[in-house]
Amino acid sequence: MIAEILCVGTELLMGQVLNTNGQFLARELAALGVNLYHQTVVGDNPERLEAAYREALSRAEVVITSGGLGPTQDDITKRVAAKVAGEPLVLRPEAEAMVRDWFARAGREMTPNNLGQAMFTPRTQILPNRNGTAPGAIVPVGEDQFIVHLPGPPRELEPLFREQVAPWLAARSGRVLESRYVRIFGLGESMVDTLLEDLEQQAEPTVSPYCSTGEVVLRVTAGGATRQEALGKIEPAVAEIRHRLGDKVYAVCDTAEGSLAHSAVAALKAKGLTVATAESLTGGLIAATLVNVPGASDAVRGGFVTYQSVAKTLLLGVPAEMIEQYNVVSAQVAEAMATGARERLGVDIAVSATGLAGPGGGTEAIPVGTVFLGLATAAGTKVIPLHLTGDRERIRTLSMKHAIHAVLRAAEGSPEQEGKQP
Ligand code: AMP
Ligand code: MG
Repeated sequence: MIAEILCVGTELLMGQVLNTNGQFLARELAALGVNLYHQTVVGDNPERLEAAYREALSRAEVVITSGGLGPTQDDITKRVAAKVAGEPLVLRPEAEAMVRDWFARAGREMTPNNLGQAMFTPRTQILPNRNGTAPGAIVPVGEDQFIVHLPGPPRELEPLFREQVAPWLAARSGRVLESRYVRIFGLGESMVDTLLEDLEQQAEPTVSPYCSTGEVVLRVTAGGATRQEALGKIEPAVAEIRHRLGDKVYAVCDTAEGSLAHSAVAALKAKGLTVATAESLTGGLIAATLVNVPGASDAVRGGFVTYQSVAKTLLLGVPAEMIEQYNVVSAQVAEAMATGARERLGVDIAVSATGLAGPGGGTEAIPVGTVFLGLATAAGTKVIPLHLTGDRERIRTLSMKHAIHAVLRAAEGSPEQEGKQP
């Protein structure tokens, strides 16, 4: 199969927006084993867009577009595609329902021009978009060619492609596609790249990194005539990644849905353990992230938000003199917070965080980014000192992730709690 990518938007030509969709789609097509020989960027101009469509269709079976599906004047991608396909745009009730439903859920007023987003040619297969108003579409052109429309915002385009277009392309080219997601904590992106450079450059399986604060996820994807064949290519690569990265790999998942919190809650539940939090600089973020995981109530008993020192004393029993003597940002206070939370809530594991998120307040002895985590278990309480960098949000997010990672490791290392129900 031959495909082409056609990115629509004057903002791309002007250099105002970096064409990350082109890069994303190219990598995905490579992973699918679909041939890609041309990529085009064209502005919001009907004549030039029409010429670009015709040229692409003279070379490829599938033309994938990005952008220009919104309700505003410059959004011409669909209109011109219909002209090229030689079919009219008609209001499609199932698409109208999707658009109306999106506005209802977002609690926003729908304007008449939004209905343009529900207009498609009669034979178009509509692709629901759970992250935005404009549905995607697979538009047949003649009998054996297609234009695939995807919305411009990457957070809409990427899941839509992975969940709906990739399986469609795989089916059309008679292949199955499998992916595994290797989740890594405690290694920076550039270090992961350095350690895995050769694997990331190979054609199949493709190994593509996705980064979020403090975390890297590697998607390992391969195709094959059967699921077994695809997995046969993926499994040795995953084993090699585990070998190279050691315990920095905290999970290998079948879907993109995982997170440190998912893994921690799963590990706690598997062992029948309970957890509590005692939070200062994270202000409840650790608990909120844990309870974001469905089913967390089996493991998460509760937590304390103790922001001012007096709250640490009143709620957790941290002696005021200790705070006075060692500073509120200290190993001693982190330890006392975790121990206090574990005793007060009677849990197996308690995690605490005290630190300086900045931007102000740093000293030479305790610079911004100094954080102490306490981890209280049946084996005693240990302290994990962190020296984080970045802005306030990043320091708080990283503190939360380190804390949940500590809980995950503690749960994995704990003996099973026989017959214990939270
Ligand atoms: P549009 O659907 O054309 O209105 O695009 C909506 C937004 O998506 C734009 O304002 C950009 O921020 C983003 N966007 C559009 N095309 C691309 C692209 N090729 N790569 C990355 N972002 C894009
Ligand atoms: Mg646009």
